[in-house]
Amino acid sequence: MEASLSGRPSIFIETYGCQMNKNDSELIRGLLNESGYSLAEHWESADVVLVNTCSVREHAERRVLGRLGVLAGWKRLSPNRRIGVLGCMAQRIGASLRELRPCVDFIVGPDGYRRLPELISGSSASAVDTAFRPEELYGGIRPMRDSGFSAWVTVSRGCVNFCSYCIVPYTRGAERCRTAGDILSEIESLAVRGFREITLLGQNVNSWRDGDMDFADLLRRTAAVNGLLRVRFMTSHPKDLTERLLDAMAETQAVCPHLHLPVQSGSDRILERMNRKYDRKRYMEIVRSARERMPHLGLTTDIMVGFPGETEADFELTLDLLETVRFDDAYTYAYSPRSGTAAAGFEDAVPEDVRFRRLAGLIERQRAVTLQTRKEWIGRTTEILAERPSPRDPDEWLGRTASGLTVVFPAGGAAPGVPVVIRIEGVRGLTLYGRTVDPIDNGGSVCG
Ligand code: SF4
Repeated sequence: MEASLSGRPSIFIETYGCQMNKNDSELIRGLLNESGYSLAEHWESADVVLVNTCSVREHAERRVLGRLGVLAGWKRLSPNRRIGVLGCMAQRIGASLRELRPCVDFIVGPDGYRRLPELISGSSASAVDTAFRPEELYGGIRPMRDSGFSAWVTVSRGCVNFCSYCIVPYTRGAERCRTAGDILSEIESLAVRGFREITLLGQNVNSWRDGDMDFADLLRRTAAVNGLLRVRFMTSHPKDLTERLLDAMAETQAVCPHLHLPVQSGSDRILERMNRKYDRKRYMEIVRSARERMPHLGLTTDIMVGFPGETEADFELTLDLLETVRFDDAYTYAYSPRSGTAAAGFEDAVPEDVRFRRLAGLIERQRAVTLQTRKEWIGRTTEILAERPSPRDPDEWLGRTASGLTVVFPAGGAAPGVPVVIRIEGVRGLTLYGRTVDPIDNGGSVCG
């Protein structure tokens, strides 16, 4: 194996999937950096490529298998090159992955990252680590992030909810929460380094606990960290959404009025089969309660269509819920069976053409709702955090409202993480655009 200046092989990490996987890749970078490994800027120039994978849908796994085919060609050019597969797909498929792709040297599930240095060096007798470890695993390791103003911080790993369609409890194991002390010490050091926005992450973030402290307490403590302007969190489960949490959001200036609250279906019969543990009425109560406290709440969701046994009447109930709640945005998808989950054994599958027809109908209806809700912003004045130049026009920048909406505005001196007060003037596609204003000219009135 070629040695880098540090004498150790250089590593490149490719990441697929959700924010938790992206934050895991930052954690792995931190762990390897502490162990003296250097990080390559491009995969072609690395000695070792680590592929951090996602299993949530079959399509995600097919993409990784295709990518491993390309990496097999890269590896053939130098016998010392090595390939590691990490994450949920490594956990789900385990050793058999090497039968599908013999180029893979080692396979490590989400609980095995502390063993990466020995697996990379080849000093370990076993090249597969898919053990679940019941304890909190990565306390004290500081993720290595690109510089910026916004950071994700994982507060819990795994999930015990066993929604009947979901592979996560099988690939990431039971929920384990980091201690409040470890989380807050990481956040304080991020604030000192200039990070201004923190997003707390967990598969079921609002079920986080540490002794007597619940997630509402953690939000308040996070928001009190000196230097932070904004605190966000995802993903929340409706069954664990408490009034205490809504109070903490409404009463704490730095906590953004944005809830990503997956509803999945508008039909109680389907919600029960999904094992979601709430019904339509309870979901609507949460929405009403949240909007009473936060009139400009940003509300986004996940909706699945074509779950086994879903009838046209169930699907109509989902469309009705979408129009009643009026989500700002929805991540919409068609059911994809995952082997090993309860729903994969249900015998009343919805035919693929019906699933995709319903998905197209759902997307169209949500798009109309999104456009209506965006137009309601025209004429409002709001504070955004500037993020980055627009990829379409160098004279414009992108930023986000506290409620999570993207806003395009004229560049004029903008810098990442700096607040700007904007009057919204219109909607392009589904994106808001506006002009900077002086808040004093606006009588100091700014909404979220
Ligand atoms: S709450 Fe349900 S959908 Fe979310 S990770 Fe857990 S099992 Fe999966």
